[in-house]
Amino acid sequence: MRMTLRQRYELVENKVAQACDACGRDREGVRIIAVSKTVDLDAVEEAIAVGVHDFGENRPAELLRKFEAFPQERWHFIGNIQSRQLPSIVGRACLIHSLYERKHAEKIDSLAAKAGIVQDVLIEVNDGEENKQGLEPDALFEMLAFCHGLKHVRVKGLMIMALRGDLQSARATFADLAILRDTMNSKLAASGMADMVLHELSMGMSDDYLEAIPEGATMVRVGRAIFSDDYAG
Ligand SMILES: *Cc1c(COP(=O)(O)O)cnc(C)c1O
Repeated sequence: MRMTLRQRYELVENKVAQACDACGRDREGVRIIAVSKTVDLDAVEEAIAVGVHDFGENRPAELLRKFEAFPQERWHFIGNIQSRQLPSIVGRACLIHSLYERKHAEKIDSLAAKAGIVQDVLIEVNDGEENKQGLEPDALFEMLAFCHGLKHVRVKGLMIMALRGDLQSARATFADLAILRDTMNSKLAASGMADMVLHELSMGMSDDYLEAIPEGATMVRVGRAIFSDDYAG
């Protein structure tokens, strides 16, 4: 039996609520970001009608197009960053999840300065050799210190994509990211940068968001489970 978008979204919403309950977390502590990268404006409109207000996009041009169609919604950029495309993203994305290069941080800072805003970002952390994207945990503190010096970039937390594989290893990846965030917060405080506090953990996708919630995810990025009518999860 095919489900409607409303039914799929309600299923995800119920599972998130149950997962929060099961580990004693507040439901408000986890935001569902509906990753709309594979769907068009009509599906976004349907999702808004169902009560979705956070959307994730991985292509700058697509983020721009959908932002312009629905500027009142929150648009998250979750894709690979390229310098020349940053002007489409800065100031439109409420949050950039996938920053890990200094040169991109600098470019975001200068674009945000010109626009008179502070751009919220997360730093993407790499989960092993198969993934090219993201920073090695060893290089994270230096990147945070670098961003601390940029007045128009505000780092709110960390993002990771778990390698495809078994749920147990995904869960271990998420647990490690939570520990890394706490370690970074201690180091920041000990280094005179207590004004930078990492709160957000953007982790978990359609196949593994239920593993991410008990490990402290504050944002789950769910695409297929909401938008794909043949997703069997
Ligand atoms: C596509 C994508 C998602 C959503 O993936 P699903 O498996 O469809 O839930 C989440 N995060 C990132 C970075 C993505 O590119």
